[in-house]
Amino acid sequence: MLYDRFYAHGAFQSCTGSTRFSVHNPTTEEQESVVRACSDQDLQAAIDSAKVGFALWSVSTLEERQRVLAKLEEELAQRAAAIAESLAREIGCPVWLGALMQVPMALKGVQFAREGLVELKWTEQIGNGLVERVPVGVIAAITPWNFPVHQIVAKVAPAIAAGCSVVLKPSELAPGAALLFMEAVHASGLPGGVVNLVWGGPELGERLVSHPDIHQVSFTGSTAVGRKIMVAASSQLKRTTLELGGKSAAVILPDADIDAALPVVLRMSAVNSGQACVSQSRLLVPESLLAEVESKLVPLVASWPIGDPLDPATRLGPVANARQHARVTSMIDVALAQGARLLTGGIGRPEGRSQGWFCPITILSNVRPDMEIAQEEVFGPVLVILTYRSETEAVELANGTRYGLSGAVWAGTSATAAAFARSMTTGQVVMNGAAQNLATPFGGWGDSGVGRENGRFGIEEYLSYRSLHGAQ
Ligand code: NAD
Repeated sequence: MLYDRFYAHGAFQSCTGSTRFSVHNPTTEEQESVVRACSDQDLQAAIDSAKVGFALWSVSTLEERQRVLAKLEEELAQRAAAIAESLAREIGCPVWLGALMQVPMALKGVQFAREGLVELKWTEQIGNGLVERVPVGVIAAITPWNFPVHQIVAKVAPAIAAGCSVVLKPSELAPGAALLFMEAVHASGLPGGVVNLVWGGPELGERLVSHPDIHQVSFTGSTAVGRKIMVAASSQLKRTTLELGGKSAAVILPDADIDAALPVVLRMSAVNSGQACVSQSRLLVPESLLAEVESKLVPLVASWPIGDPLDPATRLGPVANARQHARVTSMIDVALAQGARLLTGGIGRPEGRSQGWFCPITILSNVRPDMEIAQEEVFGPVLVILTYRSETEAVELANGTRYGLSGAVWAGTSATAAAFARSMTTGQVVMNGAAQNLATPFGGWGDSGVGRENGRFGIEEYLSYRSLHGAQ
């Protein structure tokens, strides 16, 4: 498949750039598709289109925005199977997981943006002053490859709801979901210019961020790139929303139901081959329970059959690309050299696999908090176990990384879980395995980022205030 048409002024147009990116199927390692990057001229056309789109859409009614979002949700739902298949082919996400998790998350994202529109207080009278919430302008949305359609929706749907226009630069490593999303936008009845799509990698991303006609940058991706984007945006005083990496802890308190907790913790560290920003990659357990946790956790790995992501029986596909495979392997290698104890998994391909970027689920114990594997995001199916002797030490360990995106706590009562959760310096905490509610604000503290997405909170991210004095 060749991705060589960008989207501007409500139509697909030929890219004229010379750079090309190859996307390899992580199961076969064969070339799956090629992305042709946009030239400067294409980028300018998309930004010009977004300026026209903003003039039009910033004065649209809330009813129009709701109507378009409802249609977008419908159009996306119609493409669910195609999106799930592209995720399997391009990033190795098991096809059932794409259909049951990645696409539904995107649909919820559109729904909550539509509902958030109604919940928002758009005007407020204060004495003789009328305070209005107004759209910021043209948004540059830059997204990664791991949950590509959800991450695109998390930016574009609230921007549409806010009355902004968007130039979207999706990951060059997962183009299929982005194109299907754009086709859904095209069919949604949104006026041309409101949402635009450009293809390209880091270089094009840099040019987009520093373009003077971009008013705000919304980025999801690695902390290193997020830092660069904030620096680039700061020279023009642009607002930035940054959704970055994480090293989230799942904390088991002494009175927790271990049998209920462990399958969920394993799932939250291995789902999507561990390539989730909210991955619970550190398990914190009381020292006295370590032996029991280890002996109960390791057999659960058998319920994660590894294989072709297009096979419905597969629970663990390959990691998305060769670079991820090398990173996972080298981080496990370093951890073992530093004294970590291997409970299951390890480096290299699993038995019986001679090709594909497969990494088995790896669980490491005897991990010290100062080890790289306990501090840095692996972005692979790797879970490390750390022990604590007191609740104070558990809090210190949970908060002992530069990140603060997510976390989990398991306790005998919800009151105990909530008390512990409130001591965690992180944007969200899942208590006793509850479902994550996508209508609540999502985002990080520290090196996990700045700003919030989801529902009305995501819309507010793209709004500014205007005060009219003397207005009634
Ligand atoms: P990445 O940072 O390498 O790339 C993300 C996007 O930024 C891509 O579209 C890429 O082309 C673009 N880009 C790269 N360099 C750029 C630059 N200098 N200027 C502008 N754009 C640039 O991340 P990735 O490897 O695609 O994704 C994995 C990372 O994303 C992980 O660290 C993960 O934790 C993070 N992530 C965070 C969240 C969240 O919501 N907090 C969600 C998913 C993934």
